[in-house]
Amino acid sequence: MHPGVLHRRFLNDLSTSLFSFVLPLLPTSEELNVKEEVRGLIEKLIKTLEPSARLLSFGSSCNSFGLRNSDMDLVVLIDDPNATIEPGNFVESMATLLERETNFNVKPLPRARIPILKLELAPSPALPFGIACDIGIENRLAIENTRLLLTYATIDPARVRTLVLFLKVWSKRRRINSPYRGTLSSYGFTLMVLYFLVHVKQPPVLPNLQRIMPMRPMEEEEVMLEGKNVYFFDDVETLRREWSSVNFESVGELLIDFFRFFSHDFQFNNSVLSLRAGQLTKESKGWVNDIDVGGLNEMARDRNRLCIEDPFEITYNVARTVTKDGLYTIRGEFMRATRILTQRPDRAVLALAELCR
Ligand code: ATP
Ligand code: MG
Repeated sequence: MHPGVLHRRFLNDLSTSLFSFVLPLLPTSEELNVKEEVRGLIEKLIKTLEPSARLLSFGSSCNSFGLRNSDMDLVVLIDDPNATIEPGNFVESMATLLERETNFNVKPLPRARIPILKLELAPSPALPFGIACDIGIENRLAIENTRLLLTYATIDPARVRTLVLFLKVWSKRRRINSPYRGTLSSYGFTLMVLYFLVHVKQPPVLPNLQRIMPMRPMEEEEVMLEGKNVYFFDDVETLRREWSSVNFESVGELLIDFFRFFSHDFQFNNSVLSLRAGQLTKESKGWVNDIDVGGLNEMARDRNRLCIEDPFEITYNVARTVTKDGLYTIRGEFMRATRILTQRPDRAVLALAELCR
């Protein structure tokens, strides 16, 4: 058979295999219900401390990139402007209360840079993996970036969700999804995929939601929150009606191209990935690697090896946890993935299994 035909067949096979790979890893509706119940229960208790407090989910439990048995990310928002609440103290009060009123194993971190409360529930028949949950205070930007990710996913769920979910599983299995050990968070990998679909692919698979201007004249194009512009075009109905990509590449083709781009083309040494603005230089952001600002230790100098601008908190490098070794490992994994997917074009299922070994 002609090599082109074989290659076509592999790509089709790869796309189908990606869908079947991801499907059984999605959370069950039972799991989602239990988690929502838990959120409601904790919210009720927290309201006894502060009546205007609300408890909201963010991160993967509501950006549509959640995997089965993933952690819950929760945040307490306090609506009463007259309530004077110091995050560290509030974390301590919540800890005492939840310790007394629930079965959770409670661990407060009130003096961390961002004070949080960690909760754990031991496994049970309904939740064979238990529950792990982090509760933060007043982190409103996290709610906004969760909504941004969700909106991107909603535009083209078949391709966007499949790619992101696969990359999350792959990066966890290959052990490059550990910010505490010098590699990248799921949030960072997700921003890489979205950057690729908005700014690298030509024609683009997704529009830049932070650049589409309001179609209704009354709508504001600057929405400020904590001094950050958190505007993005979030009118999903209008997007569905008026935006359609002319890029028809399959999910399999996009995955191979994603790995190829980050193996060979992206200039990690001097470029910044910005979902908001496209490719920027480290220099223009002042995120230069090896400047020795007197007294900074090796870890601090390592902070800008991989640069991914947060969509709203644009002075913040989401990938600041990635060390020199971490980046070397991540790039090695991109190359390995490219090799496997381009040199083993017989059975896609086997290639995926090998990829995630
Ligand atoms: P997982 O299923 O692996 O937990 P996740 O989608 O919940 O994945 P996380 O990396 O846990 O992703 O991030 C959850 C949320 O926390 C993100 O949506 C984001 O709001 C916030 N977040 C995580 N990491 C960062 C970071 N480095 N900088 C800023 N915000 C972050
Ligand atoms: Mg999470």
